[in-house]
Amino acid sequence: MLSRIRVRLSALESIGARAASTASSSGKQRLVVLGSGWAGFNVARQVNKSLYDVTVVSPNSYFSFTPFLASTVTGTLEYRCATEPVRGIKHVNYAQGWANNINFSKRTVEIEPALSPTRDATSDDLKASKQSVPVDKQHPYDLPYDKLVIAVGCWSASFGIKGVTEYAHFLKDVRDARAIRNKILERLEQALVPGRTEAEQRNLLQFSLVGGGATGVEVAAELHDFVRQDVYRLYPQLKDLVNIRVYDVAPGILMNFDDTLRRYAEKRFAREGVEVRPNSTIKEVGPDWLELEGGKREPFGLLVWSTGLASNAFIKSLKGLKKDEKTDSLIVNGQLNVFDEHGQSIPDVSAIGDNAMPQGGRLPATAQVASQMAKYMAKTLDASAKGTEIAAIKEFKWKNRGSMVLIGENRGLLDRSSQSISGPRSRLAGFSAWLVWRSYYMTLAMGWRNKILIPIYWTLAMFFGRDVTRF
Ligand SMILES: Cc1cc2nc3c(=O)[nH]c(=O)nc-3n(C[C@H](O)[C@H](O)[C@H](O)COP(=O)(O)OP(=O)(O)OC[C@H]3O[C@@H](n4cnc5c(N)ncnc54)[C@H](O)[C@@H]3O)c2cc1C
Repeated sequence: MLSRIRVRLSALESIGARAASTASSSGKQRLVVLGSGWAGFNVARQVNKSLYDVTVVSPNSYFSFTPFLASTVTGTLEYRCATEPVRGIKHVNYAQGWANNINFSKRTVEIEPALSPTRDATSDDLKASKQSVPVDKQHPYDLPYDKLVIAVGCWSASFGIKGVTEYAHFLKDVRDARAIRNKILERLEQALVPGRTEAEQRNLLQFSLVGGGATGVEVAAELHDFVRQDVYRLYPQLKDLVNIRVYDVAPGILMNFDDTLRRYAEKRFAREGVEVRPNSTIKEVGPDWLELEGGKREPFGLLVWSTGLASNAFIKSLKGLKKDEKTDSLIVNGQLNVFDEHGQSIPDVSAIGDNAMPQGGRLPATAQVASQMAKYMAKTLDASAKGTEIAAIKEFKWKNRGSMVLIGENRGLLDRSSQSISGPRSRLAGFSAWLVWRSYYMTLAMGWRNKILIPIYWTLAMFFGRDVTRF
């Protein structure tokens, strides 16, 4: 496009990075990290900034602490408890933008600024991901790198089912959590409008979730607690009209958990009135209904869709790299370097997190894997800056530390039956697992601000209820 202006040097100066042919003016190598999620944010935090001039490129100026997102949906935690600002990492430059392309021979990344005063995102890709961050397509620029880490994650999968991107909510980010929370509160108020029939009220208060994995289950559990603890108190007229339902194509929920734990969760849900609909295939979604295989339509007032991951459009569009045919993930070697299309590894370009797939096979798309990869990457980058040959660096090995999930009413599940670290292969269900979940994620919260805020919000929610203001 003719109107496109490449403002290479000025743009780089404006974000604090310095353009030079081989290294920054500080004499350090330029490390560009694409993405500010579990993988990208942790590399930027952990890499030695006296060895690299680090720039993080992401449309989000923050890191989303995804395990807390379900709690922010109902107000058990406030949104800020689930974010950390990228600019809070000392000695790291930040460029608010989308990586659009990579020129491997020139060693530059084309960036489209993610801020536009004139228009909102309209591309189908953005709509599909519900990542409604404005894009400034008029002012792309090239950002040079010496080392590049690709950590842009994945997007939510809709499996091409008609109506999902238009009418369902995904949950990937605090913006999604905010939209869901507002919708819940809106539905409660709408249900109280005089003249509504009971059937209309029930339809508005039908909170449906598609996907019985950890995210769907945690949102259902949070909704249940919100209804029991806050709707009963604040909207007593509606307490018997709210229904929470979880659909899944699989024969049950939490299929990657140990069988006894799964059954425990299903029993708890049954007792708490959370409806589980296994073996349900959804064919189409409308503004306030979903259609199941066989043609039956069921109403909803809120639909949260968490059925897995789809390839990030940027990764999909990247040319010249070896990708997994099925998932489009970037295939990486033991040191997490990507391969060119001829199968040669590219030592200065790495991929980590959900968008990467080790040669040996895909690892779970979890924060656990992404943060272990990030830790390894930071160490590898430091070692390479100090002159160690990449090939001589010990290969990345994921250590499975088990899985956890919350199931409501101060209960959780902890499954360490398949862990690959030392320690008991324990399974826990109930209050003790809930306590482990809270203590573990509390200690993982990165900044001191959140380490202080999180227990305060948990306590406030417990004693005074959740905040139901909508804005
Ligand atoms: C609600 C929820 C709860 C979860 N709970 C858990 C849990 O309890 N335990 C667990 O282990 N895992 C959990 N996960 C999974 C975990 O969050 C992901 O596996 C993890 O976020 C992957 O990290 P990542 O850095 O690869 O990608 P992400 O965290 O998705 O980060 C990708 C980053 O790249 C940015 N980006 C995207 N496109 C571009 C582009 N073109 N250019 C530049 N930047 C771009 C995004 O804005 C984002 O900052 C949960 C996930 C969700 C959604």
